Amino acid sequence: MSKKVIVFGSFVVDLMGRTPHLPASGETVKGSMFRMGPGGKGFNQGAAAHKAGANVTMVTKLGRDAFGQVAQDTMQELGMSSEYLLFSEDTETGCALIMVDENTSQNKIVVISGACGTITNEDVERLAPLMDGAEYLLTQLETNISSIDRAVRLAYEKGVKVILNPAPVQPVKDVLLSMVDLVTPNEVEAEIMTGIPVSDKAAADQAAKWFMDRGVKKVLITLGSRGVYIHDGIKSGILPAYRVKALDTTGAGDAFNGGLLTALSEGKDLWEAAVFANALAALSVQKLGTTVSMPLRKEIDAFLA
Ligand code: ADP
Repeated sequence: MSKKVIVFGSFVVDLMGRTPHLPASGETVKGSMFRMGPGGKGFNQGAAAHKAGANVTMVTKLGRDAFGQVAQDTMQELGMSSEYLLFSEDTETGCALIMVDENTSQNKIVVISGACGTITNEDVERLAPLMDGAEYLLTQLETNISSIDRAVRLAYEKGVKVILNPAPVQPVKDVLLSMVDLVTPNEVEAEIMTGIPVSDKAAADQAAKWFMDRGVKKVLITLGSRGVYIHDGIKSGILPAYRVKALDTTGAGDAFNGGLLTALSEGKDLWEAAVFANALAALSVQKLGTTVSMPLRKEIDAFLA
């Protein structure tokens, strides 16, 4: 039986255009394809967990506009609870302007947080009843930092274990890390935060120690197609990724974090949970898109069978 979990994070609408080449400053390029869809690290992770079968409540902040409606429509379609959605009366819903070079897959992205960058302390205080009886809170660094500080503190004080996916990477106060149970950077984020390039297991052990010296209990560093480094507080090791033909690795980390949260909420230990998350991420990279590429539980179970 899965325990109650919370994802606290961003929602933005992804506006993605493919182009023969990325425009130089002042240049206009005719694009070849446009796609619009739900996104944001928080929302992707919440949707991944929900589709994987977690008892998850998504918390994010929207504007009262058409993009906000995209979030609500998607949540309704997926059967996600919208009880703890927050609304801004004066700030628009966030969006990401994504340009992808169709030849090289290189991209340029501008993310405008919009409403989910304006979460107030009062907004966070309203989550107190949600925290009662919850097992985990998963958050990232895409909403305003003050809201993350507040949400993590509230969770910590209520005995809810905090998982921090530190993306997009930015400086985080040691006091915040001291309240984190599990941190899940990718290798670039781990290097930027700790100053240690995660080139092999010994280096990953050092990076894990950096986090643990600041009070984090467990560390998991995703290594793309190489898999994931795990330190459960006692022992460490590397779990290889599944060998699949990747079509679109955007949101792989989000898939992984959603899967990890789901498996942990079902009582699996960190190693078993990483196997489940690896499978979820491996399935997601074989499809285009982020929220829409997250697999259903039956697909994950079939993959692992
Ligand atoms: P991010 O998307 O945050 O950069 P990573 O690239 O580290 O995160 O990927 C997260 C996880 O997704 C990996 O630990 C792995 O489980 C899975 N993954 C990523 N790329 C691939 C791939 N090419 N094949 C299989 N699994 C992958």
